[in-house]
Amino acid sequence: MSRPGVANPSHFDNPDPRFPFPHSPTPTRCQTEPATFDFANGDRTGKTRAATERRLARARRACSGCPIVTDCLKWALVNRDLTKVGIFAATTPGQRIALRKRMAERLGPDWIDVLADQDRARREQAATARHNPLTISQARIVCLDREVNGPMRRPLTPAQQQRNLARLMAGLKAA
Ligand code: SF4
Repeated sequence: MSRPGVANPSHFDNPDPRFPFPHSPTPTRCQTEPATFDFANGDRTGKTRAATERRLARARRACSGCPIVTDCLKWALVNRDLTKVGIFAATTPGQRIALRKRMAERLGPDWIDVLADQDRARREQAATARHNPLTISQARIVCLDREVNGPMRRPLTPAQQQRNLARLMAGLKAA
């Protein structure tokens, strides 16, 4: 079975233009070892079932370390006709069918449009943030939030707590 190359998503017919295939900073494993990612439901390409399972496990491990796995999964889910075979983002064709069903249950039958709208809103928000950088007071609050709510290596000392409180009050006063 030959799988169209993820390396060249433009080779696919009619991918949804709202979801461009994600760019990877480095070649992905499905580009360098495409045969590992071949799979159709009922696939028996390995000499034994165990051999096929081992190959699938290798593909899944590769996907789990891939820098674009999240966007790859979204691309594979929205481009149903183009991903009827193959492993994409560690999922088999059967698993993607189940995931699409769950998306439709969660977001409604037009879930692809909902995802496209969410993506567009995110891009617009990012563009706005680039043009309207945070004020010093807002930046202080963000910094404080990260320190207090982010992963903490050790409990805050009383001095740090005092400093944070002072920053918070100053930020809130100026905001
Ligand atoms: S997540 Fe897997 S299928 Fe998707 S680009 Fe990465 S290696 Fe390829």
